[in-house]
Parts: sequence; structure tokens; C-alpha cells
Amino acid sequence: MLPVASLPKIAVSARGVARLKSGHVWVYRSDVTSADGIPAGSLVAVTDPRGKALGFALYSSSSQIAIRMLSHEPVADLAALMRQRIAAAIAYRKSIVRDTDAYRVIFSEADFLPGLIVDRYRDILSLQILTQATDADAVRETVISELIRQHSPAAVVERIDPRVRALETLPPRASGLVFGDKSATTFTMNGVRFHYDALEGQKTGAFLDQRENYAAAAQYAHGEALDVFCYQGGFALHLAGACQKVTGVDSSRQALEVADQNATLNKRDIEWIEGNAFDLLKDYSSSDHHYDTIVLDPPAFGKTKRDLDSALHGYKELNLRALKMLRQGGILVTCSCSYHVGQGHFVEMLASAAVDAHRTLRIIEVRGQAKDHPVLLNVPETAYLKCVISLVTR
Ligand code: SAH
Repeated sequence: MLPVASLPKIAVSARGVARLKSGHVWVYRSDVTSADGIPAGSLVAVTDPRGKALGFALYSSSSQIAIRMLSHEPVADLAALMRQRIAAAIAYRKSIVRDTDAYRVIFSEADFLPGLIVDRYRDILSLQILTQATDADAVRETVISELIRQHSPAAVVERIDPRVRALETLPPRASGLVFGDKSATTFTMNGVRFHYDALEGQKTGAFLDQRENYAAAAQYAHGEALDVFCYQGGFALHLAGACQKVTGVDSSRQALEVADQNATLNKRDIEWIEGNAFDLLKDYSSSDHHYDTIVLDPPAFGKTKRDLDSALHGYKELNLRALKMLRQGGILVTCSCSYHVGQGHFVEMLASAAVDAHRTLRIIEVRGQAKDHPVLLNVPETAYLKCVISLVTR
């Protein structure tokens, strides 16, 4: 380990300084004033334009996010710091996670471990390594051995997103087991069981960030329910305990096959429809289909700030059609996982959809992501999920 004084120094502009002073932990490449010769993925000492120390960070030579702050204190031993932060992340989950054996164990910046995501699915840990710094052999080994030591999983699987590796100019790598030999299991959340296969499906296998929203939605759901963008049935399976009939819609046949296996696992009878949700809602809303509960949980529409208008347009179309189909006393559970669509935008969009649909809505709950996906107050990007539950009063 390098003595602190010999760490490479990286200077940031006045704008970069202001950003760090505001409590954010990223500095963009455009705000880095000198990084000549700094090795990719190294631990660096960050300074202001005059050379005054601001803290210690992990550096990426290729990402737009050049600097991810780690600590204001000198980092004498990176491995020890990582181990300590892994332990803190695990302890936080012990105190706040209930009713599940599947949850996010480490959420990158929000757990002060930038570039690292770890999810637990009962006895399997799923690991995502997202930056040059966390991909370095020494860091990987520390993380994996510490997760095994502290969590005693049957297996650890690494999930690769090839786009992330390309952005970080890291050599390609395949998803696969990095410890143990088990890659499939079943897990339980809120009493509902799910199949998990670490090496199939999308994302890390399930949308763990919706766990608390599933339980909330199930509290108000009734009658005939429609789960639009149902993936492997997260909402649908939770609604099945409260509703007479549940239908799930998704465009992915593969996701629906798992959804159906999940229904069997829970001894539930759910109808699955493979199709484009926009077409189906258009068709159903103009042909007298009615429901008592509708869930809308589309993929992120707005991936960048520029997409905001078109994203809001997409959300409004879905919400408008869903509202038209809801009976009086009906429940709308509407979600957005686009960070760029803020909660204010989202609620405004819903208000406008309600006016156009000639419905009066009473908001029952405005919710976010499950608590195992912590939100850091001064890092707005850590808050991305919105879930509004409302009641059609007229
Ligand atoms: N509600 C789910 C997560 C939804 S993720 C859960 O809680 O687990 C978004 C889903 O939308 C994906 O399963 C994807 O296959 C589906 N999807 C994307 N575009 C679609 C479209 N146009 N029509 C229907 N489904 C679509």
C-alpha cells in the first residue's frame, strides 16, 4: 500500500470544488483540470486548483464520472476501508430489512462503496463491479473474500454489463460464478416465493427495489387487477392474495415463463399476456375493459436529461389509459425508475393525466425505493424510483 503522501494528485476546477462542497461525491471529467499520467482506477488525492487537499477518491480514466470520492480522511489502507464499509453495509441491512431473504446488500455510492453493487438472493450473492477501481484485482479479491467471510453464501455470482465495461475501457468478461457452484435458488419476500437464476433473466434477476412497494400495493389492491410491465410477476404475485383475478402483461416471453413458474410455486392462478403494453392499453381502454387495480411499472424511459419531455409523454399516455379503465374506487399503482423524471414531474404528469381522463384521484402514498437501496441526501442520483398509489374517487 502506498503511503498517503505519494498518492497521485488530481486537481479539480472551482465547479468541481463546489460540487464536492455541496456534499456530492462525483466530479465529472470536464471539471478535472489535471490528471496527466494518473493510472486508470487508482486511489488519488483530490485537490482544489491551488493544491489544497479535498479528500481521497477513486479515479476512472475513461468514464464521464472521473472521480468518485471515498473519504475526507487519508486512506492508508484501501482494503481495510473496503472491509469496514462492507461490514457497515451488512449491519445496516440487519437493522432495516424485514420479511425477506432477498435484498440489496451494497448499493455503490449510497454505501460509500462507489462502483460496487451486491444483491442477496437467499444463499446466493450477486456482484456487479462497475468501475476501473473496483475491477482492480486487489479490490475484487478483497470484496469477494470479505463477502464470503461476512455473509457465508453458498455462491457468489458476478453479473457483467458489457456496456459498463466498455465505458470503463475494461476488457470484456463473462458473467459467471466467482465462488461456489450454485447459480439458482428460490427466495421469499413478503411471504411470496420467487425463482432466481443468477445466470439468466435480466438485471440481477429481480427488481428488489420494489419489494416494499409490492407489499404496499397489496394492501389496497382488490377486485380485478392488471399488472402492466409485469416482468417475472413481482406485483402480480403480491396482488394475487388480495384480488379475484390478476392479469400480467409484458413483452418478454422469457420473463413471462419465469412469471408462470413463480405463480405455480405460490399456487396462484394468474393470466399472463405477451404483448406491447402501449398497444394493449390503447386497445383495452377503447374497448370497454375495466379493472379495480392497475399497476404500471415501465422500464426507464428517460435515460438522459434530454429525454425528459418524451419520457413524460410516454408516462402520461400509459397513465391516462390506465385511469380510463379504472372503476370508481379503483387503485392505480404507478411507478417510474427514471432518475431524470423527478417526483415533482411525475406527480404533475399524473395530475394532468387525471384531468384528461376525467378522473379525480386521491393520493394514498407517494413512495420510493426499498430501504435496502439507500438514498444519500446530497447525491440525488441515488434516489431514482417513484411509486405513487392513488384511489379513483370519481
Ligand atoms: N414490475 C416488474 C419490473 C418491470 S421492468 C417487477 O416488479 O418485477 C420492465 C418490464 O417491461 C420488463 O420486463 C420488460 O420486458 C417490459 N417491457 C419493456 N417494454 C415493454 C413494452 N413496450 N410492452 C410490454 N412490456 C415491456
